Amino acid sequence: MYYLDVHTHQSTTDPAVEAIVSTLVQPTRKELSVASYRSFGIHPCRIEEDGEVQWNVLRQYVEQPSCVAIGEAGLDRLATCSMERQISLFDRQARLAEEVGKPLIIHCVRAWEELIACRKAIRPKQPWLIHGFRGKAPLAGQLLRQGFYLSLGYHFQPEAARLAWPERLFLETDEAAVSIQVVYGRVAEALSIDLQALCDQIQRNSVILRLKNTTFAADYPQ
Ligand SMILES: [Zn+2]
Repeated sequence: MYYLDVHTHQSTTDPAVEAIVSTLVQPTRKELSVASYRSFGIHPCRIEEDGEVQWNVLRQYVEQPSCVAIGEAGLDRLATCSMERQISLFDRQARLAEEVGKPLIIHCVRAWEELIACRKAIRPKQPWLIHGFRGKAPLAGQLLRQGFYLSLGYHFQPEAARLAWPERLFLETDEAAVSIQVVYGRVAEALSIDLQALCDQIQRNSVILRLKNTTFAADYPQ
């Protein structure tokens, strides 16, 4: 079976799993681990000062062959950084995703109106995936109508899963201490489908991510 973990912060050695390992861009970070696929982004809760130093580091990272997506980037009502600055940095990262032709992985907490406004302003060609989505059906429906993809983790609302199924659904572990297989099992149960059908459909959905099935070395600017 094929399992895709679309958003995690840990590399996997399980040959049955493909994972997009998310690295938060921080100026002091030196990333040395090996992963097939990575995403790089400035997290709204980790913006340092005006974010300019991180922005310059991010620009270098996105050139790496292992970088398959931008993010997690986003908006978070609980972050200490002002919403204006968050929107500004999110907008830049979303436009960078368009420029380099890669999907955007989004972290959003209680800033849905702002996020939808950003999407309407940018009108992206690249897919926008909301990671760790735990919202209820009305919000899920609104986001799906706007063209977003939803990625669900260990905790999710079954009715949101049913709305995103089949074409707009992705699954992830993020920082949960469970395997992606456990998340697939929970979602298959919520959807009343068998595991193989879920694996097959997510594999079909992954076409939008244009993964190349290659393992890259630790190819980071030092
Ligand atoms: Zn994360």
